[in-house]
Amino acid sequence: MSRKSSLILFGATGDLAKRMLLPSLYALHKDGLLPSGLTIVGTARSELTDEEFRAKAKDAIEVHLAEDRYDPAVMDGFLAQLSYLPVDVTTPEGFDDLARAVGGGGGDLSIFLSTAPQFFEPTIAGLKSAGIADGARIGLEKPLGSDLETSRQINASVSRAFDEAHTFRIDHYLGKETVQNLMALRFANMMFEPLWNAANIDHIQITIAETVGLEGRGGFYDDTGALRDMVQNHMLQLLALTAMEPPADFDATAVRDEKVKVLRALRPVADTEMVFGQYGPGSSGGNSVPGYEDDLGKASDTETFAAIRAHVDNWRWQGVPFYLRTGKRLAERRSEIVVQFKCVPHSIFASRGAKLTANRLVIRLQPEEYVRLLVMAKEPGLDRGEVTLRQVPLDLSLSETFKSRPRRIAYERLLLDLIDGDPTLFVRRDEVEAQWRWIDDIRATREKSGVELKHYSAGGWGPSAGIALTERDGVSWND
Ligand code: NAP
Repeated sequence: MSRKSSLILFGATGDLAKRMLLPSLYALHKDGLLPSGLTIVGTARSELTDEEFRAKAKDAIEVHLAEDRYDPAVMDGFLAQLSYLPVDVTTPEGFDDLARAVGGGGGDLSIFLSTAPQFFEPTIAGLKSAGIADGARIGLEKPLGSDLETSRQINASVSRAFDEAHTFRIDHYLGKETVQNLMALRFANMMFEPLWNAANIDHIQITIAETVGLEGRGGFYDDTGALRDMVQNHMLQLLALTAMEPPADFDATAVRDEKVKVLRALRPVADTEMVFGQYGPGSSGGNSVPGYEDDLGKASDTETFAAIRAHVDNWRWQGVPFYLRTGKRLAERRSEIVVQFKCVPHSIFASRGAKLTANRLVIRLQPEEYVRLLVMAKEPGLDRGEVTLRQVPLDLSLSETFKSRPRRIAYERLLLDLIDGDPTLFVRRDEVEAQWRWIDDIRATREKSGVELKHYSAGGWGPSAGIALTERDGVSWND
């Protein structure tokens, strides 16, 4: 007889639950991917009845799920799986009710903490004392600490109740199809891996650019800044997947062993290799927008832009800069990895006037999802005398090629993996700690060297120092 499966969702009334988690669970239900009879218990501080929670969940799904993925006929079936229990996690009360709602300990239980991290410790203590932590899996949303020390504290409190094998640290970038495709591209094709090293690659760029400003997250963001909000997690995970050695298997231990080796090989960053900026007034989407301090309502020296010249100190990547750049209120919303190959060693076309441009591989994660390889081709013509060559794209548009397949939310994949117990796309403790160690060192260098915060106008590509960071190596950002 199969065991009863349950999911407890903490923070079930919050923004992430409304925009991502409930729509993802519904979409998985609609496609018949959830274990049959899965009980989903939502919990938060608000006093709601089951019916009130179901009504809120229905509204959230209708608003946030793409229309072509919505089927009203299966909504009642989904809502029947949902129930709600109010629990203030800062008090011990309520956890026994939660235990009863999921049939006590011993079942197949997944727990998702979509709450602020200061609630992790009391929540875990409550789950443990109610006897439902044993054997259960726990999913934790970012931020997992604000430095190595606080991240260790969170990890220590989680490990008092949950094995590492049952701890699922979420970096939602790992749930994105294109990010998983990076591994397919590298390790399921013969043509890239032999070239994927310092002998053939000039540099790598990783950009996560946002056009939005604070979006009401003022307090949290001002305490965090771009370096810790974006570089510490998403950008370092993208870097690790790009730079890692081929794992022997596509399994959790093999993949994460290789990623952590890269993270540990990151060279400390010199003060001349880091740029921090904050947006001032400017324009976004054709509208005038205020600067960061006006958005925030007070003076601040928090960075909304960070650019870093990183190095992975191992044989494969010696001498190859990894340029990382992220910011708010930039010119475009765009996440991408750019692999810039070196030029061919000798051009046979030079004597015929043709100029060569080195190959470039662009892996675009958002807003579009594509892989584009820029190669040289000859322009059609009879070429009496000169030969004209031009760079043209070899395009793999993932949304076009796989258009019959639904475009899934990253959290669909991550929630399903949590429920199925597959940790491959989650971040292991040693990875998070290696990430923090590198970030803490950057922050210490910034502080010690007094690296200035540069201002930039909203709607551009960040401060000019961010452009100079690559230009002085003769490299331009892929704008
Ligand atoms: P949010 O909208 O502020 O929601 C917070 C949730 O926590 C609410 O359900 C709230 O319940 C609950 N809560 C607060 N105090 C509680 C208490 N004492 N006991 C029990 N529940 C309590 O936050 P969010 O944006 O959904 O974010 C949740 C987590 O995900 C945060 O760690 C955030 O950093 C992370 N995250 C969010 C996003 C995003 O896009 N929103 C993206 C990445 C990561 P009540 O409403 O009933 O008070």
